[in-house]
Amino acid sequence: MSKNHFHFNEIDQEAINNFLEYLRIPSVHPNINYDACVQFLQNQAERLNLQYRVHYCKPKNPIVIISLIGSDPTLKSILLNSHMDVVPVFEDKWLYKPFDARMDEQGNIYARGTQDMKSVGIQYLEAVRRLQRDNIVLRRTIHLSFVPDEEHGGKLGMREFVKTDEFKKLNIGFALDEGLASIDNTFKVFYGERTCWRFHIHCVGGTGHASLLVNDIASDKVRYLLDKFYNFRNVERKRLENDNKLTIGDVTSINLTMLDGGNQLNVIPNELIMTIDSRIAPTTNLQEWEDTIMRWCKEAGKDTFIVYDQKHPQVPVTNLDDSSPYWVAFKNVFRKLDRHMKMEIFPAGTDCRYIRATGIPAIGFSPICNTPVLLHDHNEYLNVKEKKRIHKLSTFPIANESVR
Ligand SMILES: [Zn+2]
Repeated sequence: MSKNHFHFNEIDQEAINNFLEYLRIPSVHPNINYDACVQFLQNQAERLNLQYRVHYCKPKNPIVIISLIGSDPTLKSILLNSHMDVVPVFEDKWLYKPFDARMDEQGNIYARGTQDMKSVGIQYLEAVRRLQRDNIVLRRTIHLSFVPDEEHGGKLGMREFVKTDEFKKLNIGFALDEGLASIDNTFKVFYGERTCWRFHIHCVGGTGHASLLVNDIASDKVRYLLDKFYNFRNVERKRLENDNKLTIGDVTSINLTMLDGGNQLNVIPNELIMTIDSRIAPTTNLQEWEDTIMRWCKEAGKDTFIVYDQKHPQVPVTNLDDSSPYWVAFKNVFRKLDRHMKMEIFPAGTDCRYIRATGIPAIGFSPICNTPVLLHDHNEYLNVKEKKRIHKLSTFPIANESVR
């Protein structure tokens, strides 16, 4: 590791060391053993002299809560959430081993989880360390939650945790969770998410020898439906292309992700199953969308039916206006530091939706700028200098809370 090119003061070097140590824990799907993460976080909490506990909604899936108690614990608290799990890797596609956390000459730290989202978890801890160093006492309690299973939809983690008394007792007024890196100098702040519906459409029809022209076959229905879905897809694609104010989160995405059926090369298949992944924009009326899909299926012909894999409810976006003191505090930090941010709808799903669904205002924010978006990609990295800037920025939104 060519650390020699970079000189950091003690507290920054400690932050980097903590980051590298956390990255080297292979908390990678599937069948994750979280013991090393829990041990790591316990050590962190002890060194910072913070309250620490582990909660289980499901066996082997710990939820670690680290708390910095405010001077007025009766006030609503702030939740800083991050997930401990990371997605699998194709190791042969990586420049360095993805759980070695190697830093190159430019200071790029390569590891799975650098962007999504161990950097954010470490940043929360390092922000607390700086508050303590500067003897800043906050009025509100800050809870840092480290959750499992986000990359599998949070079914063993946040989705269940928000239903517990343990969660309610945290008395949360505002939450931060993950966002996305930004390729330029403007931070991205996510105030809502699209709704994921993923479904299989079974198309059943006539069968027979493939040399014949049999009527009303499964592929007729697939063709009809694909036209409907892809015409709509093109409308959304053009809408996105023609309006530079829109981002992918503002439109509905449609993709055929699987097409199954047939078992013999010269037999017309009795059934074809098409799988559609749709991410529905928050401005879409879900009932109307469902009615449309149902109508298309009916028009496609009899024996066409839908089996849902995922059919999430629509979660209202977090209202970001000056009536929210938390949002005002957050926003003012950017003004003070003369940094720009852009408010967007998150294109995919995160644990943030479960927090938002309980009525708690929540934003997705990974303070990473000037960095290619490499989450879930090969060679995911974060530059060590960007990491340092993150600490500087992250200290303030929380510290600001103390002045109100
Ligand atoms: Zn993530």
